Amino acid sequence: MEDFVKPLSEEFKNIFFIKGANKARYPYSHSILLGDYLIDTGISHRLLIRLKKLFPIKNIILSHWHEDHISGNSLFKDVKFYCHLQDKPVIEDIEKMVPYYNVENTIAGDELKSFLKTFLMRDIKVDYTIEDNQTIDIGEHLKLKILHTPGHTAGHCAFYEQNSKIAFFGDIDLTKYPYYGNIDASLTEFEKSIERLNNLDIETAITGHREVINGEKRIKEELEKYKSILLEREERILTYFSETKNPIRPTDLKNKNIIYRKYTAFKDFELIAEVLMIEKHFDKFHRNELIITKGNGYILN
Ligand SMILES: [Zn+2]
Repeated sequence: MEDFVKPLSEEFKNIFFIKGANKARYPYSHSILLGDYLIDTGISHRLLIRLKKLFPIKNIILSHWHEDHISGNSLFKDVKFYCHLQDKPVIEDIEKMVPYYNVENTIAGDELKSFLKTFLMRDIKVDYTIEDNQTIDIGEHLKLKILHTPGHTAGHCAFYEQNSKIAFFGDIDLTKYPYYGNIDASLTEFEKSIERLNNLDIETAITGHREVINGEKRIKEELEKYKSILLEREERILTYFSETKNPIRPTDLKNKNIIYRKYTAFKDFELIAEVLMIEKHFDKFHRNELIITKGNGYILN
């Protein structure tokens, strides 16, 4: 077996972890293969070409619309594509990523467009939409349950194979950087979705950007850790509120490493996403009456 293909279960021989290029760091991501169903196409073109020679892939389910999960769609011609209804518009028209990331007429927007070109990304037609709690029978032994887990994007889905108790969390990715920085993202939904995964009877978890995590206890610890990152962000934002009596707007907290503790080569993009994420924290504080509007900003209640 090729080194990027790892069997996930001794009992169920047709479930594989498919490792993304460069440890699935952006712009790559991990996939999972169940029978002839592949979830996500972001492992890299090079690896997808090798994968196609090993397995007859007939169906591709996309966890969400982000470019690092769908970049290989154009390599598949005779397959059926699946995704949630709410992510379908962007997957079918990838130029829509520009307004969805709020990067129109910015350097980050130009970078995104050149990324779409470099990765030879193409619009595809989605054949089937998937819904929360739907199950897909794969072969004789696999029952894949769709978990609509919005927040990261509106149509983000996770997947749970009921017999092996193996789940693919998509971009509830258990890294240090929970992400809700596009216009269809929601912090509140994101938190609810993490909670939902926390209630699964689970043995193995895979995410878009982390290695395989085994054991229910460890998986739940990782989910708790992930949640605590959101709380740390809240605390950093609230610290700014407690230090001033002046009204604060989300843009005032830009470039202060509130979300990204370190900016990377994608800094232009990160700064825009960061403000969108801070806005979502402000919305939550406002709803919970922790802050109130004053002038064109907010102050502590
Ligand atoms: Zn994503």
